[in-house]
Amino acid sequence: MDFGIKGKAAIVTGSARGIGRSIAEKLAAEGANLVITDVNEEMAKATAGEIASKYGVKAVAFKHDVSKSDSTEAVMDGVMKEYGKIDILVNNAGITRDTLMMRMKDEDWDLVIKINLTGVFNCTKAAIRHMMKARSGSIVNIASVVGIMGNAGQANYSASKGGVIALTKTTAKEVAPRNITVNAIAPGFINTDMTKSLPKEVTEKFLTVIPFGRYGEPDEVADAVLFYCSNLARYITGTVLPVDGGMVM
Ligand code: NAP
Repeated sequence: MDFGIKGKAAIVTGSARGIGRSIAEKLAAEGANLVITDVNEEMAKATAGEIASKYGVKAVAFKHDVSKSDSTEAVMDGVMKEYGKIDILVNNAGITRDTLMMRMKDEDWDLVIKINLTGVFNCTKAAIRHMMKARSGSIVNIASVVGIMGNAGQANYSASKGGVIALTKTTAKEVAPRNITVNAIAPGFINTDMTKSLPKEVTEKFLTVIPFGRYGEPDEVADAVLFYCSNLARYITGTVLPVDGGMVM
């Protein structure tokens, strides 16, 4: 099936590893040319090289801190020089600094909001300038189920992801007249480095509230991103799709 992805220029933030890498691979498999951005430049370059040779597409890497607007502007300029357009932006970069609110340091609140929420604002603002001129584009924001239902020990993270959902809807309303779609995905518990470090009692507790009785895989989040970026979703905007084995319903 032709999803209409071939030849598109796609940026995936924080895609040197984890869910971001899986999303980049999924889009590359459908023929998109990729932009891998990450704070870890070395790993981003290695990922871009592997994707280019595995899927026969172009893939470039940029050192990028999404929380900084100057770093983000430099990436967008680099992408325009390389590909001359931005068709797809996936705001994936994100971090956690978990602890109960009573113990949460101000700097951990600030850092998580700055990367997870301000980062989405920075990248979206810089990319829509080019998408609006082209009168087309797809933006997918990676939120989280905890942005919908909250989670003890994640005040900073859940607030940032709830903010991403609200930002998704607002951006969708602002750019719809220019034929740009903006949607969010709310993953549940996905097997990546981010969840690997959680204590066993926490991961076991999660399992009891997942109707599927298993954690998700990065590839299953990437499938949903592919849908949103494809021509199958051309009339869908401002939505939030949980990819969570039924955790939120
Ligand atoms: P991950 O394995 O920790 O990967 C995150 C990537 O983002 C890393 O490559 C990291 O670089 C990069 N990054 C961190 N800060 C950045 C910044 N300021 N600018 C650019 N890149 C940055 O995480 P993941 O599990 O794949 O998560 C990806 C997204 O899914 C996040 O937004 C996360 O909140 C969301 N999510 C994950 C789950 C889950 O269960 N895993 C559930 C719901 C939502 P370094 O390698 O240098 O740290």
